Amino acid sequence: MHVGAHVSIADGVDNAIGREEDVGGNCGQIFTASPQVWAGPDIDDEEATRFREGELGPWVIHASYLVNLATPKDDLREKSIASLQDECDAAAELGIEYVNVHLGAHTGAGVENGLDNAASTIDELDIPSDVTLLVESDAGSGTKLGDEFAHLAAVRDRSDTDIGFCLDTAHTFAAGYDLSSPEAVEETVAAFDDTVGLDDLHCFHLNDSKHACGTNKDEHAHIGEGEIGDAGMRAIVTHDDLRELPFVLETPTEDGRGFAWNIDRVRELRAD
Ligand SMILES: [Zn+2]
Ligand SMILES: [Zn+2]
Repeated sequence: MHVGAHVSIADGVDNAIGREEDVGGNCGQIFTASPQVWAGPDIDDEEATRFREGELGPWVIHASYLVNLATPKDDLREKSIASLQDECDAAAELGIEYVNVHLGAHTGAGVENGLDNAASTIDELDIPSDVTLLVESDAGSGTKLGDEFAHLAAVRDRSDTDIGFCLDTAHTFAAGYDLSSPEAVEETVAAFDDTVGLDDLHCFHLNDSKHACGTNKDEHAHIGEGEIGDAGMRAIVTHDDLRELPFVLETPTEDGRGFAWNIDRVRELRAD
């Protein structure tokens, strides 16, 4: 199975490979720069070459948290386009297949305007042919978009760009789609397939949720220890339509049980 975690690129992007192997992952995700500031990727040719020669994958670049595709504000839109373009170019340079981004918030412009803005912002990008932009599902706090599957489909349908999607299980669950039992997973997968289509689903962020279904609260928990729980997690990672997809973990790391523990747990659930 393809399972891995979000790892650091400190001291060179090629170091992400060893960090991934250290936690038992065979695919993964990185930030190319600090996600809390407007900083572009700073990758030299040698580290890029070493990264490209690595054997793990698929890899995902997670865009900066400052990017807001849905914004009605011109200056933020321009900064978002420039930042995301840099990420897409870095992905091509590194041989990375996916760039993952949130739709962002409409900040009062309304859902429909926000979805229009997101689609037209995406169409400003010049995405290299071997890179796919993935829009990530959101927990839906405040005016953030992407909590409803219909938002994801709307942006794809209003855009001329061939985008794909990443489902973050903690976000999707918090957004109101139950994933806590085999039946619930079946229902949520069917809802996604009906609204968006499973063909456009390329990746999972596999995280348990500290908060209940429908709370719109985004806080990740260790696999099996949150409100989704073992039964839901097992149903996701063994699902016939999902099991071939990459499962990238963004589980907590600050309490001693890091990615290695969580990746082991996923492999156990898969094997049960
Ligand atoms: Zn994300
Ligand atoms: Zn995520």
